[in-house]
Amino acid sequence: MAFEGLADRLQGTMQKIRGKGKVNEADVKEMMREVRLALLEADVNFKVVKDFVKRVSERAVGQEVLKSLTPGQQVIKVVKEELTELMGGEQSKIAVSTRPPTVIMMVGLQGAGKTTTTGKLANLLRKKYNRQPMLVAADIYRPAAIKQLETLGKQINMPVFSLGDQVSPVEIAKQSIEKAKEDHHDYVLIDTAGRLHIDENLMDELKDIKDLTKPDEIFLVVDAMTGQDAVNVAQSFNEQLGLTGVVLTKLDGDTRGGAALSIRSVTNTPIKFVGMGEKMDALEAFHPERMASRILGMGDVLTLIEKAQMNVDEDKAKELEKKMRTASFTFDDFLEQLGQVRKMGPLDDLLKMLPGANKIKGMDNLSIDEKQIGHVEAIIRSMTLQEKEHPEVINSGRKKRIAKGSGRSIQEVNRLLKQFEDMKKMMKQFTNMPKGKKKGFKLP
Ligand code: GDP
Repeated sequence: MAFEGLADRLQGTMQKIRGKGKVNEADVKEMMREVRLALLEADVNFKVVKDFVKRVSERAVGQEVLKSLTPGQQVIKVVKEELTELMGGEQSKIAVSTRPPTVIMMVGLQGAGKTTTTGKLANLLRKKYNRQPMLVAADIYRPAAIKQLETLGKQINMPVFSLGDQVSPVEIAKQSIEKAKEDHHDYVLIDTAGRLHIDENLMDELKDIKDLTKPDEIFLVVDAMTGQDAVNVAQSFNEQLGLTGVVLTKLDGDTRGGAALSIRSVTNTPIKFVGMGEKMDALEAFHPERMASRILGMGDVLTLIEKAQMNVDEDKAKELEKKMRTASFTFDDFLEQLGQVRKMGPLDDLLKMLPGANKIKGMDNLSIDEKQIGHVEAIIRSMTLQEKEHPEVINSGRKKRIAKGSGRSIQEVNRLLKQFEDMKKMMKQFTNMPKGKKKGFKLP
């Protein structure tokens, strides 16, 4: 999980100051000592840490905190604002050319996740922004890079432009843009060559592609888990090419967060997207404020809602709502819901986006076990159509058969039937409630 170590330490520190009715300089000093250590341990660039601590300290002993009625909370607000600022403040949006296609050059070292990210970005552009991207295979050196992009293209049903590995990348890029115009694609994503290290040949080739295509964006893909190395790579690429944005991959496995917190300050280049997993839908637009909120345990409900919106089929959602209203919700609908939730990503990652989730005792070993969902699915799949639609017909003989078919125990089958029954009762109560009362059902 992203930023886990840092989040734990900072949240512990903030907890101590949260409820304080009075905050004096000594309190702030003590808190900032802990914040400093937490950031250094998270592998944040030392100069960035120094500046951050200085800015927060100045504000925290200033008027805006001392005069406030809840100084403890005010200090936390300052920390959150400065963390947000550190990561770039406002969300940095992707360019849209007034003369399509918008050209995006994807650059980076081998293994950073460049090819995967090119696919993910095309997928996101189509799903979230309703665009028609085309992928371009211009990495002619790494064996299998072209094939990899073509396979990804097939997987997400996206066209891939390729001229094999005997034509120069500059020529490939040039022809791809002509082709995109012909076929009315509004985005062209060029997957350029990577190397193990930054070298002159690579930079020269990238500069040539840049000069010829005049890209609207040059995105550097870097691996968050490499910490300060990622920051150094970003600095070199920026000096030589002039980046317009960074895509930070593998944030799902980065418990420290050093790169995410340092890149913007050190290179003055915004992080535009973050990779949160290997799957094609595991790319998110980067929102500094939401990320700061997550790090401080205040949750990220907005991203959660967006994920839901992107994954839920609107027609199906409407149909489901109707079924809930008329209480004709069946086990098949239930199965479908589980599938929808699963598409959004690992459940415990989703739960961690809820405010205060870290404070729920025993959250770590809570039974939001993916396996258990699999068991529930197996039980439902072992039911006949009639049983799924009218669970009341399930007698003990049928229960035995379902248990056997799904490889689960009769107790588990009973538990699921009971839960389903309870859920339906709840839906009925909810749908029978007078309108005014329903308003109370708000997101946390
Ligand atoms: P390239 O050499 O830079 O083109 O790298 P690839 O696109 O081939 O990716 C290298 C590896 O990193 C692959 O196994 C990807 O699945 C993996 N990867 C890429 N992005 C992410 C991410 O955001 N999270 C995780 N966990 N893995 C990723």
